[in-house]
Amino acid sequence: MSEQAKCGLCGEPMPAGEEMFKYHGYSGPCPKPPLPRQPTLEQLLRMTVAGERTYFTPPFCVSVQGERDGGIHFIIHADGYDSETLDFVARGDELERL
Ligand SMILES: [Zn+2]
Repeated sequence: MSEQAKCGLCGEPMPAGEEMFKYHGYSGPCPKPPLPRQPTLEQLLRMTVAGERTYFTPPFCVSVQGERDGGIHFIIHADGYDSETLDFVARGDELERL
């Protein structure tokens, strides 16, 4: 098996004999509290699209990370909100997604 089976709720490895299950529960409940569910940046951005704008609009930030591959590495993320980030390298007016 190439990848260790992990519980989709708590992220802990599944016990031997239960690798075929997606979640703990056969021999006992999850040993850890559930993983926080992080929205993707796209999901956050979609909240700002007309119609969903009213309930949540996080501010978005560009954070410069430094020089990389002959350009500048920066990330876009929702400020003050736990989410995934999008990584880019800017060279002139070109963007490369990392
Ligand atoms: Zn679990």
